[in-house]
Amino acid sequence: MSNANINRQWRLKTRPKGMVSEANFEYREEPIPTPRNGQILVRNLYLSFDPAMRAWLWDRPSYIPPVGIGEVMRASAVAQVIESKKPGFEAGDFVVGAFGWQDYAATTGGGPVPVTKIPPGVPLTWPLGVLGMTGLTAYFGLLDITDPKAGETVVVSGAAGAVGSVVAQIARIKGCRVIGIAGGSDKCRWLVERARVDAAIDYKSEDVAGRLKELCPKGINVYFDNVGGETLEAVLNNLALHARISLCGGISQYNAEGRVPGPANYLSLLVQRARMEGFIVFDYLPRFGEAIAELAGWVMADEIRIEEDIQEGFENIPKTLLRLFEGKNLGKQLLKLADPPTKR
Ligand code: NAP
Repeated sequence: MSNANINRQWRLKTRPKGMVSEANFEYREEPIPTPRNGQILVRNLYLSFDPAMRAWLWDRPSYIPPVGIGEVMRASAVAQVIESKKPGFEAGDFVVGAFGWQDYAATTGGGPVPVTKIPPGVPLTWPLGVLGMTGLTAYFGLLDITDPKAGETVVVSGAAGAVGSVVAQIARIKGCRVIGIAGGSDKCRWLVERARVDAAIDYKSEDVAGRLKELCPKGINVYFDNVGGETLEAVLNNLALHARISLCGGISQYNAEGRVPGPANYLSLLVQRARMEGFIVFDYLPRFGEAIAELAGWVMADEIRIEEDIQEGFENIPKTLLRLFEGKNLGKQLLKLADPPTKR
């Protein structure tokens, strides 16, 4: 794959049935676009990989429309402005936005979350991770939806992933007892040793229901759900009175074919007078600033430790999406496309 004066792209070729595969995407080369009035032309530097991208491939509307067949695959990215015909942006600015699986994008910068400039001094990957949608999801999904109190027991699934790892550490900062659930001993070791949670459960080799009973003798006050499925059922069987569940995602079901079973024991919510609430991070847009300031403070104070898994190579873009569903990433999954064309 060459990249001289062309815009390399990965477009959606077919909708996946069951597990998404590389064959669902098609490589294309197009001319670099010319920005119209009101647009910027950007060069992508880092791509973000998010489980929601699988849901954007479903043939049904969700909180945003699906990606159409033949369209460039939608993805968040950090980029540098090459040319600007949009007031407020200049060539050389670093920006974050939904620029897609391609080298270059010409865009007005609109959408559910408008393109924003990255302030000087901020490491270029952070606006896709802890200081971007990932960290903001953790922040609002935990603090606004569940209002955790010091001393309460908080359980987090997908705990060694991008969102979960931040949730677990915010809960620790708030003085909660934190139990992370993740796949594999390396991730569980990272959770205890680096993220400093109280205990970790390896759902791939341990009996989750049994371990939750043992680790949460007074029940679970707060559950941050990234995965759904059997883990959610195990948690529902162990709720404390007035428990709160933040329904962030259900990655165990994103690649399912056909109908997925609901939690058989959802009446536990009734018995325990518990609450389960879904949210979409975009809804908190007016409050992003306050959250980013607090998250940045925690990272600078070493209260939140971050991990990034940075893959490389344009040809590896579809493969990198699959890493999320294979559990290969620790922390935020990214792919580096290029160094900045001009220095910061
Ligand atoms: P992530 O957790 O970094 O990556 C995905 C991880 O999910 C994998 O590493 C894997 O970890 C786990 N996983 C994959 N397949 C699984 C399965 N079948 N069962 C259980 N775990 C599985 O991704 P993220 O970006 O932080 O997203 C986490 C969740 O937040 C997702 O559900 C996503 O859709 C949701 N989300 C919601 C919002 C919102 O506004 N509501 C915004 C952003 C993200 P293991 O090795 O532990 O299995």
